[in-house]
Amino acid sequence: MDLVGPQQRGLFIGGTWREAEGGEDFAVLDPADGSVLARVADASVNDAIEALDAAVAVQEEWARTAPRARGEILRGAFELINERADDFAELMSLEMGKTVAEAKGEVSYGNEFFRWFSEEAVRIHGRWMQAPAGGSRLLTVKKPVGPCFFITPWNFPLAMGTRKIGPAIAAGCTMVVKPAELTPLTMLALAQVLTEAGLPEGVLNLIPSTRAAELSKALMEDDRLRKVSFTGSTPVGKILVRQSADQLQRMSMELGGNAPFLVFEDADLDAAVEGAMVAKMRNMGEACTAANRFLVHQDVAREFAQKLADRMGRLTVGRGQDDGVDVGPLIEEKAVESVHQLVTDAIHDGATLVTGGTSPDGPGFFYQPTVLVDVHPESEINSHEIFGPVAPISTFADEEEAVRRANATEYGLASYAYTRDLARTIRLAESLAYGMVGINTGLISNPAAPFGGVKSSGFGREGGFEGIEEYLDTTYVALPADH
Ligand code: NAD
Repeated sequence: MDLVGPQQRGLFIGGTWREAEGGEDFAVLDPADGSVLARVADASVNDAIEALDAAVAVQEEWARTAPRARGEILRGAFELINERADDFAELMSLEMGKTVAEAKGEVSYGNEFFRWFSEEAVRIHGRWMQAPAGGSRLLTVKKPVGPCFFITPWNFPLAMGTRKIGPAIAAGCTMVVKPAELTPLTMLALAQVLTEAGLPEGVLNLIPSTRAAELSKALMEDDRLRKVSFTGSTPVGKILVRQSADQLQRMSMELGGNAPFLVFEDADLDAAVEGAMVAKMRNMGEACTAANRFLVHQDVAREFAQKLADRMGRLTVGRGQDDGVDVGPLIEEKAVESVHQLVTDAIHDGATLVTGGTSPDGPGFFYQPTVLVDVHPESEINSHEIFGPVAPISTFADEEEAVRRANATEYGLASYAYTRDLARTIRLAESLAYGMVGINTGLISNPAAPFGGVKSSGFGREGGFEGIEEYLDTTYVALPADH
């Protein structure tokens, strides 16, 4: 908690930490025992509009800063976060529940967005070309889209922020950030780091709040706001897209997933089990990229399930900060209930429990790593984002069936496949209807790669060369060459 002193538990608007209107605040809980970790200022609609005022006031000046200067601020923040990596990891572990080891992984991953976009800041360029008919020249100029509004989820408190804030700073946009009310502390610490790295007042404004719906509506009705980037659930994403219609803000939507994890008969099964552990158990299964459905060829399904159940059954569940713990608590009581309901329904539909299936007695919101086999394809657990440590396994007979079932979902974020067949790999890359396909790996997230989905998983990309484009508009300049 060293990173978030009493002062940094307020709103951060126009470079100043301050209380919320009326002195309102809310409690942030430790999911390992339900105790209060801290109280944080609870922004009102008026506070949010003031945050937008602050962002708008400095937008033009910020857009004129040298790209190198913006890049250096990001690079400076990257260095500071590295220096404080252990503190960031502990803070994230406390407010979100993940183990400290996992939280260190997120610090490293999340911070890489700052390094990547510090490098991208100086590579924003337009083009110069001759019109096809000759004569005139066609030029393009890239400009920052303007003031942005970011809404982030609780599952990756640092990384979901840095992959929006990094490219926005690099592109020359100002911003208002509303972190998840369940995990606002990491973002407060991040604002402090950016300030120390030299980010000018008003460029980043932070408004923790329990009134997400009201705030977003008020901000999006304001024609000064030009862009919204949201990471969270698909139902909320749809509300925001509808809300964007009146002012036609540019939108980036990183929404839910229902990732298939395919294991073919030619796969290296031990490697597939390793990959499955990562794809399923990263963040206790509370990741939009989490493997949600295991589809395994019928000839190898029994062996794969046994090996996976053996690994899952040996994991130690406990407080994320304790030594020897592999799996921390889920984020809240509701999450445990929802996961358990999915497991119970799957068993009712004919699935067999191989390991887990229970939640240890409280306090805290724990759920035992669970493996189910013979899961009915129509079971709710196959269409619903589980967001917990449960691996439902069902079988397929051939590649055609595997791909058809993998694609039989409204979602299209991450997908995984284990095979040693190169021709099949190419077919899968082209036929899986997903924004991301991992072949023989359970970990696809990489700041240098374009992260994002299709269908109900949203649109827009974060990271990679694509990530900064979300924050840039293109102006085309027609230039007759004979003048
Ligand atoms: P959520 O949609 O409930 O909340 C996300 C954020 O939206 C929070 O900050 C919340 O306060 C805010 N919010 C809620 N209602 C709102 C409204 N009406 N208007 C504006 N903001 C509102 O999601 P969550 O439970 O925090 O996160 C889990 C979801 O996020 C999962 O579906 C997961 O798949 C998704 N997710 C997606 C990605 C991705 O990159 N695609 C990454 C992480 C999480």
